[in-house]
Amino acid sequence: MNEPGLDVREATPDAARTTQSRLAARDVVKSYRLGRVTVPVLKGAALDVAEGEWVAVLGSSGSGKSTLLHLLGDLDQADAGEIRFDDRPLAAMSRRERDRYRNRSIGFVFQFYHLLPELNVVENTYLPALVGMSRLAFYTQRRALRTRARDLLAGFGLDHRLDHRPRELSGGERQRVAIARALINRPAVLLADEPTGNLDEQTGGEILDLLSAQHAEGLTIVMVTHDVGIAARADRVVELHDGAVQTGGGQSFTR
Ligand code: ADP
Ligand code: MG
Repeated sequence: MNEPGLDVREATPDAARTTQSRLAARDVVKSYRLGRVTVPVLKGAALDVAEGEWVAVLGSSGSGKSTLLHLLGDLDQADAGEIRFDDRPLAAMSRRERDRYRNRSIGFVFQFYHLLPELNVVENTYLPALVGMSRLAFYTQRRALRTRARDLLAGFGLDHRLDHRPRELSGGERQRVAIARALINRPAVLLADEPTGNLDEQTGGEILDLLSAQHAEGLTIVMVTHDVGIAARADRVVELHDGAVQTGGGQSFTR
């Protein structure tokens, strides 16, 4: 499938078109097999995310939002099509580069936080920085890591919770920790899967304010949601429908 009409850039405002694409999905196809039944989820989805942009992917439950986000973050593989980062297909990267992409270039925020219950807030936050690090590197960099984790957490209003375990925190506090964890390696792109989906409206609004502040400092964000109001916080909204990404006609979904 190579229909240019599916490429979101075709209908993108000039500001986004002139900027280089940071992250892109091209003609992505993904099905799940359940026993003898194959469930097609993505049928040639395309998305182009410019540097510094905040894109919301709006879609109903089961439309494939999480699937698309997992493919963008290299947490799962497409059946066909490609994911490109800085104009390079992930498939062309070495295993090491790909691990680095997943761990360093991308930060992932999940709806249900996925914090480790045995670790305190600071340890949860710097955990991704330990991936691939030698014991020696850990000993030499431990203080700097802790400091960076504490600074991030303090910036998110959690300085009084540093020694706490996730179970002692509210949902909003847990999501702040999860966002700090996602940012610890200074990723190029933050992928957020319904980041406010488990929170009440007020707390969810505070999390969106926090994302907005990060975006204002230059963070590129791809956020998926089923909620039009939440999607409206982004620079640009595209819709995932029938396995493909639509631009929504540029009126109701674009600011
Ligand atoms: P969304 O995040 O938009 O709710 P998902 O990407 O989670 O949608 O799922 C899209 C479709 O794929 C759904 O019908 C879901 O049941 C199915 N699906 C998702 N993950 C799997 C899986 N690991 N195995 C089988 N089916 C799956
Ligand atoms: Mg989902």
